[in-house]
Amino acid sequence: MEFRRDITKPWIRSEPEGYKRRRAHRVLARLSRRYPGAKIALRYRTSMQLLAAVIMSAQATDKKVNEITAALFKKYKTVDDFANADPRRFAEEIRAIGFYRQKALSIVTSARIIREKFGGKIPRTMEEMLTLRGVARKTANVVLGNAYGVVEGIAVDTHVRRLSQRLGFSTEDDPVKIERDLMRLFPKKDWFTLTYTLIDHGRAICTARGRKCSLCPVKDICPASLV
Ligand code: SF4
Repeated sequence: MEFRRDITKPWIRSEPEGYKRRRAHRVLARLSRRYPGAKIALRYRTSMQLLAAVIMSAQATDKKVNEITAALFKKYKTVDDFANADPRRFAEEIRAIGFYRQKALSIVTSARIIREKFGGKIPRTMEEMLTLRGVARKTANVVLGNAYGVVEGIAVDTHVRRLSQRLGFSTEDDPVKIERDLMRLFPKKDWFTLTYTLIDHGRAICTARGRKCSLCPVKDICPASLV
């Protein structure tokens, strides 16, 4: 796959910016029709649960996280519930997920920071979100967008990263640089939808294991389908 992307890189780099923007608009329009109402797959009831679920979802599937949180979130609902937890005990409760010790520490510590510095409310800005433990731009974008409808950027997870590269929206590997490229290409009103639409397409057709280009609604405007 890396080889294929390398072939398309010169083509992607030479694509005029205006043309790329129009192509990006057409890609999103078609994928939005294929995946109407695309939305976050993690299950939660409170903003703190959302934050915990997103931290847990790093390098894990949403399905796995939902399996664990189905029972976990009956016990942990509020910021206080998470802040009062013993990190080691909490880690045992999520041990079915990868990096559980690190994630447990991030969740409990973040809850304590939220209680102490933000009056028990999940922060509403990117700058504040980034002061929490284990929270980078992807997590912050997901939480801000879903909890408050605050859109400061574009959440770039593994699917968004892969599709942005295959679709020729970015030649970068670093999620922060990919996010910057996407923010230049798409109008702000589309940023939130873009993430979940690309994720749905990345799960259904353009998967990490392979691309089903013949079934793809954007095959005629995707550089990766040409190689
Ligand atoms: S045409 Fe192929 S590579 Fe491009 S988005 Fe569709 S499935 Fe992915």
